Amino acid sequence: MAFDDIFPQSLREAIDGVIRIPSYGERGASRFIYNLLKLSPQEREEVVNRLLVAVQKLRPCGECYLLSETDPCPVCSNPKRSKRFICVVEESQDAYTIERLERYTGVYHVLGGRIAPLEGVSPQDLTVDKLLERIQENRVKEVIIATNPNVEGEATASYLIKLISSRFPGVKATRVSLGLQFGSLIELSDELSLERSIENRR
Ligand SMILES: [Zn+2]
Repeated sequence: MAFDDIFPQSLREAIDGVIRIPSYGERGASRFIYNLLKLSPQEREEVVNRLLVAVQKLRPCGECYLLSETDPCPVCSNPKRSKRFICVVEESQDAYTIERLERYTGVYHVLGGRIAPLEGVSPQDLTVDKLLERIQENRVKEVIIATNPNVEGEATASYLIKLISSRFPGVKATRVSLGLQFGSLIELSDELSLERSIENRR
């Protein structure tokens, strides 16, 4: 009997489905599916239903690209948030980390990643054009770059600061000085050091 006759087709397709998610290889995807299948039939259906609801409801905001159930997102549609201050982050989860502090009163811009030449990610693959458009249209005062404190995050920040300073000389472009260990991610950071670094950014 050949292996293909024994290995269930639906299991193969489920694993191949998870592999399509960035950063999941055969091992990670297999572990995810096998662990999911350890749950009771009722529980696993519940988990999959929640995933289904999330993927159906969540879309990037048409303005800032923050994942949201509404478009515009709750930040962009809040009249109390100043559109003249834009905090640039790599991913939605970075914005949520800052949002949890309940201190920042501007809006966000989610890049959708960071510039990584070795992985073939260039500024054109990110939402940089839309960022420039927003700076122009909203008479932005300051752009706060809160990319992750690793090599690619720093390079992305330098690129954006240069670009913004040359296109919009009147706009302040600042790098949030994250009080973090080099290489760690914003989402893993302790909230206080992030809060302090936002306050101390000048
Ligand atoms: Zn938004």
